[in-house]
Amino acid sequence: VIETRGLIKTFGDVIACDHIDLTVWRGEIVGLLGPSGSGKSTLLRHLNGLTRADGGHVRVLGVDLSVAKGRELRALRRRIGVVFQQFNLVGRLTVMENVLTGALGRVRGPRYGIVTWPRAVRAEAFQHLDRVGLADRAYQRAGSLSGGQQQRVAIARALLQRPDLVLADEPVASLDPQTAASIMDLLVRVCREDQLTMVCTLHQIELAAEWTRRIVGLRLGRIRLDEATERLSAERLRGLYLPDPTSDT
Ligand code: ATP
Ligand code: MG
Repeated sequence: VIETRGLIKTFGDVIACDHIDLTVWRGEIVGLLGPSGSGKSTLLRHLNGLTRADGGHVRVLGVDLSVAKGRELRALRRRIGVVFQQFNLVGRLTVMENVLTGALGRVRGPRYGIVTWPRAVRAEAFQHLDRVGLADRAYQRAGSLSGGQQQRVAIARALLQRPDLVLADEPVASLDPQTAASIMDLLVRVCREDQLTMVCTLHQIELAAEWTRRIVGLRLGRIRLDEATERLSAERLRGLYLPDPTSDT
């Protein structure tokens, strides 16, 4: 599903991605960890073509992102559901309208106003709202919901895209611990049910340890560990965040 080879990205003299070789297989749930500034978000942005690499190759869902542009890139993005820390809903629109925007790539024409959407798409949107536990909030303004509820809406919106891949950048970083756990539970559950692949950056080791199957650890733009979650000791994980005594950079 994802293959990067020697991916390099620099910003001035900062090397945000330093020869990243990452392969992610269909159905994997991968946690991307690392200290602040280690390049997690930059790596994710390469995976849906928001950033172009300075060197190396990036292939996502069969598309070569070093050459893809225009229509091909838009088509690829429609197959990738994204979930952000800040939910990115339109607060003045209803929950249902926000979810429906997930189908914009598929259904031409309608923008706002629920009645303009085909009945089948509305039904599908409602189904996803039900899955995330918000069927009873469909006609409420999205801006009036709590953070955790807004993230559920964002997940329903991503699901309506019928994605093959989900990229989540700190999806629970602005939520309290209990809500964060319930959102991680939901994300992982829907990905399993729909056999989606997910790469999810996280700040908390504990969340990654509990909800992901594989952990990729970044540090200074390099992959420092990449292992099955169950085989990783808490110590090695914490080591990712410690100052490096043999610092070579
Ligand atoms: P955090 O945990 O704080 O979100 P991160 O691991 O997501 O951190 P990135 O946002 O990927 O880190 O940033 C990696 C490095 O690249 C940082 O040093 C950052 O300052 C730099 N960087 C990222 N985006 C840009 C940009 N658009 N312009 C200049 N520098 C950037
Ligand atoms: Mg980040």
